[in-house]
Amino acid sequence: MRIAIGQLQEESNTFVLQLADLRHFANNTLLYGDEIVRALTGTHAEVGGFLAVLGEAGAEVVPTVAAHSVSSGIVPRETFETLKAELLARLPAGPVDGVLLALHGSMVVEGDHDGEGALLAAVREAVGPSVPIAASLDLHGNITARMVASADILVGYDTYPHVDMYETGRECASLLLQAVRGATRPLTVFAKVPMIVSAEGMSTQHGPMRS
Ligand SMILES: [Zn+2]
Repeated sequence: MRIAIGQLQEESNTFVLQLADLRHFANNTLLYGDEIVRALTGTHAEVGGFLAVLGEAGAEVVPTVAAHSVSSGIVPRETFETLKAELLARLPAGPVDGVLLALHGSMVVEGDHDGEGALLAAVREAVGPSVPIAASLDLHGNITARMVASADILVGYDTYPHVDMYETGRECASLLLQAVRGATRPLTVFAKVPMIVSAEGMSTQHGPMRS
């Protein structure tokens, strides 16, 4: 069982002028291929959760790109195309059985407000219609119909403050493996709740988000 993994996380604020370019990612996390397994095994975020579950299952890990930045302005088109091309180039020529991606959900790319949708659509095109794709998300993501159409499984954090990144990664990887083994056939549905919560009122420890 060969599972490709990747990470591309950026939370864009379109009012911020500082661009999330490659240097911005490199100042945070920017890893390629086997560096990802060396650097992120045993860590307590999504990719650490992916690697733990895949290790327990004896899966062959195909590491692609791991790029993470703190919240910033939009991602320049050239940066996005570079990271996307690096990720796609590391998908093996032979088939993979599944793809696991750690995403945020609110990445804005120059010319495209749905960066994750663009990435997931490109990965779907690369692996074909029958290979399961699962992605983890921040619960602050702006989920789009394109994301839902391109992925088989999308798993968001359950908590804010975010204390369940590792658990979310594990859940996402476990659901993907069930689909790869044919134990489940995930279906995605897209529904928007008519509700806006201010960031200050979004804690899941009390208030409307708790209930
Ligand atoms: Zn968040």
